[in-house]
Amino acid sequence: MIVQLKKNISKKDKDTISDRIVALKYKVNPVKTQKGNYLIGIGKSEFDIRELGQLKGVKDIHIVSDDYKLVSKKWKVEQTVIDLGDNVKIGSNHFSIMGGPCSIESEDQIEKTIAHLVSQNVKIMRGGVFKPRSSPYSFRGLGIEGLKMWFDKAKQAGIKIITEVMQVSQVEEMYDYVDIYQVGARNTQNFNLLDALGKVDKSVLLKRGISGTIDELLYSAEYIFSGGNERLILCERGIRTFETASRNTLDLNAIPILKSKSHLPVIADPSHGIGIRQYVEPMALASIMAGADGVIYETHEFPEKAFSDSQQTLDFVESTDLIQKMRKVFDLRESLF
Ligand code: PEP
Ligand code: MN
Repeated sequence: MIVQLKKNISKKDKDTISDRIVALKYKVNPVKTQKGNYLIGIGKSEFDIRELGQLKGVKDIHIVSDDYKLVSKKWKVEQTVIDLGDNVKIGSNHFSIMGGPCSIESEDQIEKTIAHLVSQNVKIMRGGVFKPRSSPYSFRGLGIEGLKMWFDKAKQAGIKIITEVMQVSQVEEMYDYVDIYQVGARNTQNFNLLDALGKVDKSVLLKRGISGTIDELLYSAEYIFSGGNERLILCERGIRTFETASRNTLDLNAIPILKSKSHLPVIADPSHGIGIRQYVEPMALASIMAGADGVIYETHEFPEKAFSDSQQTLDFVESTDLIQKMRKVFDLRESLF
């Protein structure tokens, strides 16, 4: 069960509610986020919901049968909207486009990418400054100095930044320069990192693990939420299957399933999902029809010169075409459903 508490509940009233939940043979987990104050009850026994509902300080009470609770749609039917400020919102009727290179490489590359995004009215730029690479000898990113340089230019242009955080110590180091922390597919179950992200008041985009199930993604999101941060976005980025014709298998099924299980926005990453440049567009458009709240994808002025993931990166002409088609498909979806 989820007991939503009133904002200014006294300690005494909270303890009384907590004791009553324990008396019902439920284990109690208090959760305080920037937005809400909850008691999560874990147990199975049947009880009369009114018995708790009438207690002083209770705002609402919900029975949630899913093992994850706070990210479940069973208690929060309306979709979560993430507000990044300056009228940039993610979720519900806001369609989000996040474009940019796999890796942040240089000042010139940042400027060119920003100019491209601004010309298409795209508000969120992606790019890695800490890169998880299969080989330790590959380019590993420009690090915090690269992020600072990017931040200055993005801010001037009114562009929001999403970039990957790889370890706990980076959460604080990056804080002033990011709008959305990206948790990469290799870190979806790095619970120490998830705990640390529960303590910040900035948005987190959580990617599905390379071999992670949909439920595991939701449990990881529950970790961050129960740690105190409700500003969460889920991302389907392809999973590892027996198929070798594509880099990963973008699991389109996951999109409507996540949307029906959770109130959180769902973003698709067709670049990593299929890993082949000419198929990024059809998979992006299919993701939108499947219900995605947005698409994150890789673009670079000269993809063949990109330091990483060049094989799946669109040039700016392809990117412009994609942006325009995505908006049309989103409008079509909204008019159909
Ligand atoms: C990326 O976005 O460049 C990236 C490394 O993604 P993922 O964690 O999905 O592999
Ligand atoms: Mn990449």
